[in-house]
Amino acid sequence: MARIVMKFGGTSMAGTERIRRVARIVQRQQAAGHEVAVVVSAMAGETDRLVNFCREANPLYDPAEYDVVVASGEQVTSGLLAMHLQALGCKARSWLGWQLPVRTDDAHAKARIETIDSDALLASMAAGEIAVIPGFQGLTADNRVTTLGRGGSDTSAVAVAAAVKADRCDIYTDVDGVYTTDPRIVAKARKLKNVTFEEMLELASVGSKVLQTRSVSLAMKEGVRVQVLSSFIDDDAPPADSIPGTMIVSEDELIGELEGLEMERQLITGIAADKNDAKVTLTRIADRPGAVATIFGPLAEANINVDMIIQNVAKDKGETDVTFTVPQADLARTQALLEEQKDTIGYYRIIADSKVAKISVVGVGMRSHAGVAGTMFKALADRGINIQAISTSEIKVSVLIDEDETELAVRVLHTAYGLDAA
Ligand code: ADP
Ligand code: ASP
Ligand code: MG
Repeated sequence: MARIVMKFGGTSMAGTERIRRVARIVQRQQAAGHEVAVVVSAMAGETDRLVNFCREANPLYDPAEYDVVVASGEQVTSGLLAMHLQALGCKARSWLGWQLPVRTDDAHAKARIETIDSDALLASMAAGEIAVIPGFQGLTADNRVTTLGRGGSDTSAVAVAAAVKADRCDIYTDVDGVYTTDPRIVAKARKLKNVTFEEMLELASVGSKVLQTRSVSLAMKEGVRVQVLSSFIDDDAPPADSIPGTMIVSEDELIGELEGLEMERQLITGIAADKNDAKVTLTRIADRPGAVATIFGPLAEANINVDMIIQNVAKDKGETDVTFTVPQADLARTQALLEEQKDTIGYYRIIADSKVAKISVVGVGMRSHAGVAGTMFKALADRGINIQAISTSEIKVSVLIDEDETELAVRVLHTAYGLDAA
């Protein structure tokens, strides 16, 4: 017998028929002899709808009240799934975030889980009851409702799995695993049998929304076994132990497996695209020590995450241009802050561009192989795609390009690294 946390995303929970299908998958898992807890998302589109109501109420809404509103989508689906399970003859009940409780910090709309009280869950599961937990929700120390940021139900699921010391956390979604790139963009994307925590962390943070970034770092820290798999499976499909989803594994596990099979892994594991960044250029900044600090200090204080940075070579006048990227959602605030600091920084003009995309290639194989970046630059150049900025980490190379060329760039790179399915 194993203890398994199952998480179902928005598409899987969208409507009566789909929730009934989810209930049957959960029932089969329990019938296979396991203790089961389920974490659910709101129905697809519901969180967007609720966010819109908040914006309509007041563009500068109170984030604490935003959380009260948007957390409700998951309350609905958790109650409904418990009902569907009961209709199948299972013992089931819902446990809302405040009932467990799931304690978080007070960063409304992007709260971090601090602790989950697992006593009630463990007792419920031990009694053969299926615990249904709405994802995305938490509670501050002074008992206000919080949410965990978009896509946060993944993190709820991993946190519950860590709290109840689950043997596995199965993330059921609308694709049957993690692919070499978004299978909705590249038809030739291949499903990966496994991907390392580090690779998944990088892929998630550069735009593969299949798992929320925080869920991956939490799983890595807590040693939770995570599997990504499809909820759109036949009714007579076997329980998840034998469904080939994608396992997130440690690098040691991966190496062990590769040695066993004596096979070579691709140099690049996956490619991701992110259209949510904006590019900002400040022109004619004095080329003197401390100039750059006057730009990024105020942005850091305002909690604005700067990603790629380029400082152009100074021309003869002792002036230079600085270009960097920020999340599009923070662009207006960035521009306002830079205007405020114009005299201190001493630049000539701000040029902002939201029509950019960041394309990233990720793979642990990069650690031991040179030439990954070169292949990327050449493949893009051959198709006339201009690179506006570059950044790298140990297992990732990212470039900034024109947003209109996103799909083309991803396809070209997918082919260049030999990732296309036969
Ligand atoms: P859920 O509602 O189940 O949480 P999401 O929409 O958050 O589902 O995540 C699943 C989606 O992630 C897929 O439909 C797919 O379009 C997208 N995706 C992006 N990159 C990848 C990838 N590398 N592998 C699989 N899916 C990906
Ligand atoms: N419902 C939330 C969202 O759409 C959380 C989630 O589905 O993971 O972001
Ligand atoms: Mg998601």
